[in-house]
Amino acid sequence: MKLHCNVEVNNRISSINIIRRKPQRSVLAIGRHTVKSNDLCILWQTLQNKQGTKYKIDNNIDKIFTKFINEGKATIRLIEPPHDLIIQSDTIQLKSFIHTLKLGMSKQIDPSILAISNLNPKSMRSIPKIKVVVNKSSEYPTLEGFPRTTEELYLVGLTRKSFDRQILRLQSLRILNLSNNHISSVPKELGLLKHLQELNLSQNRLNKSTKWMWLDQPGIKYNLKLLDISNNLLTIIPQEIGKLRALVNFKASKNILSHLPQSLGSLPQLKYLDVSKNNLKYIPGSMRNLRLLTLDVCENVFDGEYLQSMTNMDVPSLVECASRSVIKARIPYDASSIPFTLVKHLDEAKYCVCGNPCIHYYIRKFVEFNLTAIANSVKSSGNVTVPFDCYFCSSTCVCRYAKVQC
Ligand SMILES: [Zn+2]
Repeated sequence: MKLHCNVEVNNRISSINIIRRKPQRSVLAIGRHTVKSNDLCILWQTLQNKQGTKYKIDNNIDKIFTKFINEGKATIRLIEPPHDLIIQSDTIQLKSFIHTLKLGMSKQIDPSILAISNLNPKSMRSIPKIKVVVNKSSEYPTLEGFPRTTEELYLVGLTRKSFDRQILRLQSLRILNLSNNHISSVPKELGLLKHLQELNLSQNRLNKSTKWMWLDQPGIKYNLKLLDISNNLLTIIPQEIGKLRALVNFKASKNILSHLPQSLGSLPQLKYLDVSKNNLKYIPGSMRNLRLLTLDVCENVFDGEYLQSMTNMDVPSLVECASRSVIKARIPYDASSIPFTLVKHLDEAKYCVCGNPCIHYYIRKFVEFNLTAIANSVKSSGNVTVPFDCYFCSSTCVCRYAKVQC
């Protein structure tokens, strides 16, 4: 029984002095300790330690933590040495490994069926491929598929017209580069890949008909750090972009965007934003809340032909008040916990320059601000003072931020 995985070892020397090492590509195996003995043990091999480390199983496993096994994570707590083996792997293989381990612990398995060769220190040649690069269409593994252990997948410049659904099976995928193809739609299930950190869809055919349901899925929300949709045919970016709570780097240059979604201002980690070479007339007022390192707005219009100011400041409805509280308290929500219509309602939130959310009750004004107030470095073709499409939660905020006489 062998498991290809990442293992992090936590040494519980004392409660104060916890020594941790980084996760390492590893092979874990269960087998007999020696040819003659019937004692089972776990062998942990890494590229640096090909001989491997053996851990006795019999009366030596304190606990197995499997709360997150459906996310491909489990921890084995050993008594001697006082190590926690923190494992991350393909969910199905991990479940099978833990099942075998539990059988071994309760002596319900015949050690002789676990081939002793499993525990012979071998070379690590069997370490699976984690990076897959396909340079030519003729090399595309249409029939055999990608290794399930793939963490980085580069399918660049292959003129592919559709998103290959085989990719959706790669539960360990961290980096997906599909740039320079002819892709116009992305399946909803892409949002279920919970380890995906970088997604490059630049130089494709994404357009106004492209569906963005993958942004609504739970897996992608807290991990995607880089999204590149530059050089497509997009006229809008959907509000749902604001759900990518971990997004640090967003590239949307060379499209046909006339405006950006208000939700962009609610991305807490955003540091790099490239929206150059579009038709932007103004910037969402919510972006006043951002503190970017780099902002590129070169080659846009900013021509000042913007909409009239609007005021809707009646006594807010109960739904409005409740929605503002939910958003302000950052209570997570999706269609599994509240009706879909309410999800859509909450997704419509705009953000006042003061940071408060507002949905249908607000004052909307176009106010000119200097871009250097939201970014350390601004790349612009002209004036860095541009119109912001601002929503204000109250007349007090209008007075404070819009520089108008009240
Ligand atoms: Zn306000």
